[in-house]
Amino acid sequence: MNAAPSAHTFRRRFLDELPGDADASRLARPVVGALWSRVMPTAVANPSLVAWSRPLAAELGLDAATMTAADTVRMLGGNAVFPGMDPYAANYGGHQFGNWAGQLGDGRAIVLGELVRPDGALAELQLKGAGPTAYSRRGDGRAVLRSSIREFLCSEAMHWLGVPTTRALSLVATGDAVVRDMFYDGNAQQEPGAIVCRVAPSFLRFGNFELPSARGDLALLTTLTDFTLRHFFPQLGGTGLDRYAALLREVADRTARLIAHWQAVGFVHGVMNTDNMSMLGLTIDYGPYGWIDNFDLGWTPNTTDNHQKRYAFGNQPGVGLWNVAQLGEALRPLWQGSEEVVEEALTLYQSTYGEEATRRFSAKLGLRFDASRGDSDLLQQMFTWLQGEETDMTIFFRSLSHVVVRDEPTELPAELQHAFYGTVPPEHLASGLQWLQRWWRRVRSDSTAPTAIAAAMDRANAKFVLRNWLAQDAIDAAHVGDFTKVQRLLTVMERPFDDQPEHAELAQKRPDWARNKPGCSALSCSS
Ligand code: AMP
Ligand code: MG
Repeated sequence: MNAAPSAHTFRRRFLDELPGDADASRLARPVVGALWSRVMPTAVANPSLVAWSRPLAAELGLDAATMTAADTVRMLGGNAVFPGMDPYAANYGGHQFGNWAGQLGDGRAIVLGELVRPDGALAELQLKGAGPTAYSRRGDGRAVLRSSIREFLCSEAMHWLGVPTTRALSLVATGDAVVRDMFYDGNAQQEPGAIVCRVAPSFLRFGNFELPSARGDLALLTTLTDFTLRHFFPQLGGTGLDRYAALLREVADRTARLIAHWQAVGFVHGVMNTDNMSMLGLTIDYGPYGWIDNFDLGWTPNTTDNHQKRYAFGNQPGVGLWNVAQLGEALRPLWQGSEEVVEEALTLYQSTYGEEATRRFSAKLGLRFDASRGDSDLLQQMFTWLQGEETDMTIFFRSLSHVVVRDEPTELPAELQHAFYGTVPPEHLASGLQWLQRWWRRVRSDSTAPTAIAAAMDRANAKFVLRNWLAQDAIDAAHVGDFTKVQRLLTVMERPFDDQPEHAELAQKRPDWARNKPGCSALSCSS
């Protein structure tokens, strides 16, 4: 492995301050008493940079010349490391679909190092799909192009929507084929491989804490938790055992806020296992996620979850709570067992979630929530109505700002009718109009100018989200070598609240061809 020259500085706090594995081999194995295993990316045939995020690169101090330099592309494809990088895979466990799964770990993610950004902050650079690690179990450590495009685009789209998330710096096609059985039905196929370089202050998950706790390794759990507090939550301060309780409360609070935000934009994660829950409250691990087209609380994009629907849209807030409870159980030995601390954190989660969801959905309606003015009822009626007939969530909310600046509606406006996926019965139009009039009167009763309300609403209701069919359309083009659609989506999703009329077709509701197409409505974990 050649080292390429680099003007950048890297830190290695995880390696220097936390116990690691003496064995640097890629042999799949249980790793006990250690939080990481050193591992080099495995080289690929022909790395080529097919897309990268300019705004993120700029934040990291990487200009266009650096990003596209041959040495950088080799590094982003796992064929070289920069001086100062010391790659490793992290060891964690997790609850998958409600069951304790034991050790999981980074089976196909390799952290290259912590880059010192121009602003002094640290950013972990992590390659996903860069080859096997000690945690690959039976997996190949690789990722296919379709899932890499999805992760790359959605990470950046979520960021620009304002949703806390890990970022994606680059998308590299490897030139190697990867074999996947997409629907686990015996039809394995060769697919193009790819690597995404993910970026976050930390990729720590609930599962990093659950594993040492489940193994009864209190010393390791304490070391990791102290490390986490020291570097990522210095503002919590505190001494003694209370700092651990403060950490749990903070993670509960951030998770509740995150999930309220998911609900407000119509994002369904799809695999909210505790190994996919970030300690920093970021959206992490984009797999079989999906975006809500018609507002359906029962929808899940994940085919593996089709029967149970554990991770369906409407279940996300409850699953977040369950996951925080698992983290609480894992941390409990740190404060010598009291259950009260966990209960307090769960109560906090519920109140934060309730407040945040109410605040966000009220903002979508142009309201500052006021229970004394019947706003709870107004919101509830809206949710009920939205679920009555297939109605596009994004189009419905975005069109309300048009209504607010006009006279009180006397019929359901064309923009709103356009949000329906099929024809709807007259009673549904009538109840919709009733709700709309009630909402219009409530919003317009405030002294704020209607144009100002409309402008604020447009900042709460994106016009562009990474609809499942859009990503799939870009994937289909990429599979025949055309990455222009990926690049177009990337730039349009950088301004999701702007009208961008020249890209109007990317704000359309799901076309009929996409209703049941794999990748558009049904995603598998095979990625
Ligand atoms: P996920 O459901 O994608 O979050 O993955 C769950 C676990 O499986 C994590 O430990 C991953 O690192 C591991 N994993 C998923 N896909 C692969 C793969 N192709 N090779 C190795 N490990 C994998
Ligand atoms: Mg994962």
